[in-house]
Amino acid sequence: MNYISTRNAARSVGASQAILQGISEEGGLFVPERLPRLTPEELVALGHMDYIGRAETILSHFLTDFTPAQRTSAIRAAYENNFEGGHPAALKKLPSGRYVLELFRGPTCAFKDMALQLLPGLMAHAADNVGRGGETLILTATSGDTGKAALEGFKNAPGIKIMVFYPAEGVSPMQKLQMATQEGDNVAVCAVRGNFDNTQTGVKAIFTDPVLKATLSARNIFFSSANSINWGRLLPQIVYYFSAYADLLSGGDIQPGEVVNFAVPTGNFGNILAAYYAKGMGLPLGRLICASNQNDVLAEFIATGIYNARRPFHLTLSPSMDILISSNLERLLFHLLKQDDRALSALMDDLKTDGAYQVSDEVLAALQADFFGGSCDDQRTTATIKAIFEREGYLLDPHTAVAMAVTDDYLARTGDTAKTVVVATASPYKFAEAVTEALTGRRETDAFLATEQLAALTGLPVPAPLAGLRSKAVRFTDVVDKADMASAVLRFIE
Ligand SMILES: *Cc1c(COP(=O)(O)O)cnc(C)c1O
Repeated sequence: MNYISTRNAARSVGASQAILQGISEEGGLFVPERLPRLTPEELVALGHMDYIGRAETILSHFLTDFTPAQRTSAIRAAYENNFEGGHPAALKKLPSGRYVLELFRGPTCAFKDMALQLLPGLMAHAADNVGRGGETLILTATSGDTGKAALEGFKNAPGIKIMVFYPAEGVSPMQKLQMATQEGDNVAVCAVRGNFDNTQTGVKAIFTDPVLKATLSARNIFFSSANSINWGRLLPQIVYYFSAYADLLSGGDIQPGEVVNFAVPTGNFGNILAAYYAKGMGLPLGRLICASNQNDVLAEFIATGIYNARRPFHLTLSPSMDILISSNLERLLFHLLKQDDRALSALMDDLKTDGAYQVSDEVLAALQADFFGGSCDDQRTTATIKAIFEREGYLLDPHTAVAMAVTDDYLARTGDTAKTVVVATASPYKFAEAVTEALTGRRETDAFLATEQLAALTGLPVPAPLAGLRSKAVRFTDVVDKADMASAVLRFIE
């Protein structure tokens, strides 16, 4: 199985190279040149496997330059002990008959753990496979969840150092504390004055800084990235769609071949794209419900075929979806354009120069055949958290609540009767202030007090990784200007 670049389909690399490199030289993203198809018998067999077996089955089709032993050791290290409750992707049935796929039982209480617990193992084997020695330096800009999940994934990984930059004024108190107390002898965390854009452009500048690059090469250190443009972050996410379907089958909730919808709270379009790949591999999925918050650029795109990022940016209660440029949409467009790299590059050029592009009627029809887009503002997010807790006894985080509300819209609009699974991307305790306010109508600004109130109100246990934060020592207090980020990196590798 080879991977080709969305902006130059003639460029083809193996899985190990795609994962190490992250992004192609000309700025394209790596996609599988064709999708493997699972037979109906293979799908039924997944029902009799645990999550590790399911991951081994799916990854064996994609990581063909890895040995089975490499795949198995990475998968076991990721999923055997790091998820509370045993099943990394447990399916819950609500009284109304709707399903919730819980992906937040990992060490940082957000779904990014599903990929970032596995990526370090994949990178280590990939480096062996291509014969690359030396050290890897992972640099990540984060608006909250990615940074912590990457730190937990890569902490103490041999041959790897990781540095995370976050905006000094842009992450929640709980997210900041999660990062500032990070353990591990190969990690560093640094706040950057300004907003997330400032941090993100700072990191991009470091990646292309010739002086820094030369300094690192002289020491045999390579840059890499842990964000969701890396194929190694997308691939692990395909597994849980198969797993959820297998659990529905083995639980007798559906018949073989029965069509199921998934609703996904969407930001960078990585999670929902994994569902699209699962569908392309033969999983009987119906509509993929793409849920946005007030930053509804994707909902508009799916309705009209016009992608328009020239709009006000809103800070919402679901910050991990506050995004106007969904980078993984590039992969979907490449497939919808039937792998026409020149047509895709033209759209991406339009986005860069005009902040917008429009697809043809044909592409729009193909898009709408698989996807439904909808959006939900903060007020409705809050009302949904309260209503679902009162009616169904289930507590949603703000991101998952957006998906639940958009699912209501989809079912009301279409009358679709297929079973629908809402993908739950974060623990409600990770956003305790907002969730507590949704239930009580009162804002408690102290994260720990809000957590206590939420536990008292709901009786739900506080996840151990969040409960434990209170007693952890703060290790990282550096705050730098954007101009000083490169010297912070140099200090770190000294
Ligand atoms: C990252 C994130 C999302 C968005 O996922 P994408 O793959 O970027 O679409 C949604 N919810 C939470 C809690 C997240 O951390």
